Amino acid sequence: MIETSSKAKHGQGRNCVITRRACFSSSHLYWLPEFSDSENAARFGPCALSPGHGHNYELIVSMVGELDSAGMVLNLSKVKHFIRNEVTDPLDFRFLNDVWPEFDLTNPKGSLPTTEALVRVIWTRLKPHLPLVALRLYEHPRLWADYLGNTMEAYLTLRTHFAAAHRLAQEELSQEENEKIYGKCARPNGHGHNYLVDVTVRGSIDERTGMVCDLAALQCLIDDLVVEPFDHTHLNKDIDHFKTCVPTAENIALHIADRLTNPIQAIGVNLHKIRLQESPNNAAEVYAEKPQIDSMQ
Ligand SMILES: [Zn+2]
Ligand SMILES: [Zn+2]
Repeated sequence: MIETSSKAKHGQGRNCVITRRACFSSSHLYWLPEFSDSENAARFGPCALSPGHGHNYELIVSMVGELDSAGMVLNLSKVKHFIRNEVTDPLDFRFLNDVWPEFDLTNPKGSLPTTEALVRVIWTRLKPHLPLVALRLYEHPRLWADYLGNTMEAYLTLRTHFAAAHRLAQEELSQEENEKIYGKCARPNGHGHNYLVDVTVRGSIDERTGMVCDLAALQCLIDDLVVEPFDHTHLNKDIDHFKTCVPTAENIALHIADRLTNPIQAIGVNLHKIRLQESPNNAAEVYAEKPQIDSMQ
């Protein structure tokens, strides 16, 4: 309730989202008993190699609520306690396949402990204790999953990079006019960036594989349709689309989304978002469908 008296504490009763980060190191193995060794190897690649491999996971817990009279949504010591009790203590330095019944593969309902399956199970463990709005789980800095509490739906993001040159200028304008609009970026011979591309897909977690899609197939699409054609090019000169379209970060992000939307649908997921980072100082994000995950960076 919002306190209206003159003695109201600052912020009391107003809504706020808070986040807490937690880390753990765990190992896992992608190997389904109903598949032969060669089928497991074909499907899961090196992730099927016995006895498994490990990751340094990073979990970002987002919670929402009204500020109390102490100016907090929740007491952080409580938040830390539940995250430790329910997540980091059971998972840290453990073999994920053995930790929770959800990952018991001898049970036909058990799934592989993928990033997206793990973040969903973490949600079921934390939700009774904390007012969650979103969870993000990084398997490593180039692969993470987001879960918003919607049954089996999860978001998976792959980060990749390419290096390319570009020049921001419109052909029909003079050099002086272009420099007025684009500044140094309009200089005649161009300049370059190490671009980071985050491709976020949305899909349903498979109850057995624990995956929203075949990760290797997704990586192949990104490599074939974005990295390979763009890497070490001059975008204006080498990519047909940018012969007539100024390759700003916004336009590059849109073009990547247009290239990937249909092929990604063909592997059973929806392209949700493209984030293109040109430098540590600027990035562009475009949604290929109704935005749901906010930037948590
Ligand atoms: Zn792994
Ligand atoms: Zn530039």
